[in-house]
Amino acid sequence: MTPLSPGSTIGILGGGQLGRMLAIAAAQLGYRCHIYSSDKNSIAAEVAAQFTCAADEDIESLSAFADACDVITYEFENVPVGPLAAISGKAPLYPPASALDVAQNRVAEKEFARSNGGTTAPFAKVTDRETLDSAIEQVGLPAILKTIRMGYDGKGQARIRAGDDPAIHWDSVAHQPCVAEGFVTFSHEFSVILVRSQDGEVRYWDTPHNIHAEGILAKSLIPAPAEIIAQEEAARALAAKMADALDYVGVLTSEFFATADGPVFNEMAPRVHNSGHWTIEGAITSQFENHIRAICGLPLGETGRAADKVEMTNIIGGTADEWQAVLQDPASHLHLYGKSESRRGRKMGHVTKLFF
Ligand code: AMP
Repeated sequence: MTPLSPGSTIGILGGGQLGRMLAIAAAQLGYRCHIYSSDKNSIAAEVAAQFTCAADEDIESLSAFADACDVITYEFENVPVGPLAAISGKAPLYPPASALDVAQNRVAEKEFARSNGGTTAPFAKVTDRETLDSAIEQVGLPAILKTIRMGYDGKGQARIRAGDDPAIHWDSVAHQPCVAEGFVTFSHEFSVILVRSQDGEVRYWDTPHNIHAEGILAKSLIPAPAEIIAQEEAARALAAKMADALDYVGVLTSEFFATADGPVFNEMAPRVHNSGHWTIEGAITSQFENHIRAICGLPLGETGRAADKVEMTNIIGGTADEWQAVLQDPASHLHLYGKSESRRGRKMGHVTKLFF
C-alpha cells in the first residue's frame, strides 16, 4: 500500500481525550487532524488543525468532512454506522465499520467472540419483563443486566442479587433491550491491546492488569502478575483472530476476566483505550502513534515496554486538582485533558509513573 504522505489530513470522528491524544501523535508524524464532533467545546479540536462541529447524523456535514480528509478514524465506538455511508468512496475508514457493528451491540460482540473460539459469561437477551425472568433463570444469580447498546464505564448496568425484585432493575435500565450476564468469578481483569497494519501484521503491547472502581478503570499495572501472564497467549490468540476476521486496521482492545478456567472475554473497543494510556511513556511506541501509523499505511513501531514497571492511574472527577501533588514526583508524567468541568466519574486526566 502507498503510505499517506506527511501533511495529509486525518479525520477523527469524536472529540474527547482519545481524539486529543491521537491528534497529538498524528501531529508528531507531520499529519494534520480534522475533528468531527457535536461538542462545541471539544478537547480534541483544541489540538487539531480543523474542526467540524456537527451532529453524528448530519449527512451533509459528514460528506463535506470526508471531502476534506485523506483517511478517517474514530475515537469512540458509538458512532452511528448508518450515516457513515456518506463518507464511503471519499476517504478510507479505519478501523472498518464492521468493527463498529460488532462492538456497538453486546449480544453481537459476545456471539462474535464465541464464534472465534472465545469463552464469554453465560448470557441471555432481555427484551421485556418476562424475558428478564427467563434470562435470570438461564444465567443464574447474581447477574448483571447491561443495555445492549450505548453502555460504557459501568453505565447502563444493574447488578441483580438473589432476593432482589427484578422489576426494580428493569426500571433502572429504562426498559431498554438488555443482555443478562451471569456473574463471572475472576481473580483479575486485563486487556489485550493490539495493533494491526493494513497488510495484516499484528503487534501486541504488554498486557496491563486493570483495576476498576465503580465500573470505571482506576489503574493499569504493567507487568501483569503471573495469573494474567498465564492466560495471555490464549487471550491474544482470540483477539488476533477477531481482528483478522474483521480485516481490522488500527488499535483493537479486548477486555478479559482471568478465571480458574482461563480467559473470559468481556468486551472489545475498536479503538485506542484507557488501559493503553501507559504506552505513551511506558512503551517504545504508544498506542496512539501506532494507530496513526496503521491507518496511514506506515510501518508499525516497536511495542516493547520502556521501563521495568509502569503504573497508570486515572484522575477521575474532583481529583483533577491533585495535579500539583503529582508534579512533585519527578518519575510521574501528568496528562490533563483540558476539560473545563469536573463531574463525579468523569475522566479528567491520568498519571503514568515509570519504575527502573
Ligand atoms: P463493562 O461495562 O462490561 O466493562 O463492565 C464494567 C465492569 O463491571 C467490569 O470491568 C467488571 O469489573 C464488572 N463486570 C462486568 N461484567 C461482569 C460479569 N459478567 N461478571 C462479573 N463482573 C462483571
